[in-house]
Amino acid sequence: TGGRRCRRLEGETARAVLANADTLLFDCDGVLWRGEAALSGAPAALGRLAAAGKRLCYVTNNSSRTRVAYTEKLRRLGFPPAEPRHVFGSAFCAARYLRQTLPPGAAAYVLGGPALAAELEAAGIPHLGPGPAALPGPAPADWAQAPLEPAVRAVLVGFDEHFSYAKLCQALRYLLRGPDCLLVGTNRDHRLPLEGGSAIPGTGCLVKAVETAAEREAFIVGKPSRYIFDCVASEFDIDPARTIMVGDRLDTDILMGNTCGLTTLLTLTGVSTLEEVRGHQESDCPARQSLVPDYYVDSIADLLPALED
Ligand code: PLP
Ligand code: CA
Repeated sequence: TGGRRCRRLEGETARAVLANADTLLFDCDGVLWRGEAALSGAPAALGRLAAAGKRLCYVTNNSSRTRVAYTEKLRRLGFPPAEPRHVFGSAFCAARYLRQTLPPGAAAYVLGGPALAAELEAAGIPHLGPGPAALPGPAPADWAQAPLEPAVRAVLVGFDEHFSYAKLCQALRYLLRGPDCLLVGTNRDHRLPLEGGSAIPGTGCLVKAVETAAEREAFIVGKPSRYIFDCVASEFDIDPARTIMVGDRLDTDILMGNTCGLTTLLTLTGVSTLEEVRGHQESDCPARQSLVPDYYVDSIADLLPALED
């Protein structure tokens, strides 16, 4: 099929590819920073891109921060100033989806943290978590007697470090009321890597638990779903042919970029490796070809030489 080649982005090609782009979409963790530390050279590279007049947007599957919190983190780590409207986190985008989809006054039952609650409030979606609500009896079977809120028309699953069997029960009970109770997940990342090869379970594990109980598939807001790109395209005048998606994960960032017709750039500072790319390239499977980026760099700091005048 010809296919994407995953060439190193350097020299004249780098200048030409960047000159052709007016917008760059950045994944955050693994591309701009790891945890609380900016990746070396990343703030300088984004500073140059902003000075060159590029539009910079931030597209992250992490539902545990609000748009505003991301602008503060970017500033704290020395990145060029960003406004909340440039940040597309899966918490904000999930709230937007529910605002578009739910009838007026309908509420969401939420498995998630304070950032998800804050974005729902900003979008005007009534929401409830399990709260400390007294469970009516000691045994799980008694919990099926707990009161249900009649206004709930969606179950939303995001990153929830206090996920529990009791919450899973309540989510199932709302979903059993019928197909007009939506099931929405912020993202399917199943593992969040930590320094030193260790990892913690990601939101995908929680979404899977609810899907398994409810015997239905969630609508996913975050990458690789094109919904998160549609959010960007609805707020800015985006030409996919002049937009670069920069990410560290093949199955989220690169797949979304390829699906949406963007130029895709993999950075090797995060989850995915060049060996994985080569494996996909060698396979005949079309689904695996969609995981191959157009270009790669070791780090986005490698873009600096192409941005000098
Ligand atoms: N979800 C959670 C809860 C996270 O903490 C992270 C990364 O820190 C992610 C998802 C992945 O985020 P991103 O799409 O920015 O790589
Ligand atoms: Ca990432």
